[in-house]
Amino acid sequence: MPSIVYLVIPCYNEEEVLPETARRLTEQLSSMQAQGLAAPESRMLFVDDGSRDATWALIESLSRENPFVRGLKLAHNRGHQNALLAGLMEARLHADCAISLDADLQDDVSVLPQFLEKFREGCDVVYGVRNRRDTDTAFKRVTAQGFYKFMHMLGVDVVYNHADYRLMSRRALDALSEYREVNLFLRGIVPLIGYRSDYVYYDRHERFAGESKYPLKKMISFALDGITSFSVRPLRLISRLGIFVSMASILGLLYALISHFMGQTVAGWTAIICSIWLLGGIQLLCVGVVGGYVGKIYSEVKARPRYRIEEKAGFPLDSAAPSSGQQEEKRV
Ligand code: UDP
Ligand code: MG
Repeated sequence: MPSIVYLVIPCYNEEEVLPETARRLTEQLSSMQAQGLAAPESRMLFVDDGSRDATWALIESLSRENPFVRGLKLAHNRGHQNALLAGLMEARLHADCAISLDADLQDDVSVLPQFLEKFREGCDVVYGVRNRRDTDTAFKRVTAQGFYKFMHMLGVDVVYNHADYRLMSRRALDALSEYREVNLFLRGIVPLIGYRSDYVYYDRHERFAGESKYPLKKMISFALDGITSFSVRPLRLISRLGIFVSMASILGLLYALISHFMGQTVAGWTAIICSIWLLGGIQLLCVGVVGGYVGKIYSEVKARPRYRIEEKAGFPLDSAAPSSGQQEEKRV
């Protein structure tokens, strides 16, 4: 029995790539149907992440012309991860599995059938992993590698060279819906689900039109989110640093007392000023890191909805009511 597949595609200001993306994915879906891998009810679900260009108008018109196309419009730009989550949570209601991919088709769509084959073999999560990184700039390559190494050092289980090109079964999506965090880092959460998983290897192309929607600033804040949402090791390091500094200061105190009783306390101004500044600096740094975590606790405790769907397109009338990111069905 072919399974119902939803391709979930977050889009932010992607008017330049959308028509071509829809065309290529339609080809892929039709051929997967012909191969008996995807059921006729399979769809591509475009999630408009509060774009400021004609993205939503395009999705609406595509959904009228192309029976494969469905759309969700988020009321605000909530970022790639939240847009993706919105799409996945919608797909969960209709599909046996969902595959997430970017609107610019940098991830090779010709490997989509391989994802479905692994799903058929019983995998709940299939990670798309990049073979090489030669389409990236040297800077992106080095920083990305450093990031993965650092995450591993901090004890966070992320799949090397895997972005958000992945298949998830409905069961895995149900599990994902139980993670209520507001600071989303899906690459860190999905391995925590723990169902059977496998990899599909692919080559990443250049963006065929438009510009990257992930400038350096967003990339850095995403990486920091990944670290601070998943690892408490920096907190432990602070405690260790605290112990070390306290011991060092006891030694310093002993030294000062001995010097005092030996009558050598004339100078010392430099040493005092230096230590005041050093300790002040370390304390500020520590307070800053702790503050980062306190900020996270703050936003988690508020548990605000992570997205709000404003409109839907291409759905049968009965399921067209807008909904929000807060899961109602769990409340009894
Ligand atoms: N994206 C999004 N919201 C944002 C930024 C990006 O939905 O705030 C989408 C974007 O439309 C694309 C995907 O996330 O489908 C990946 O973005 P992009 O290709 O620009 O990132 P890059 O490949 O350069 O890392
Ligand atoms: Mg891209």
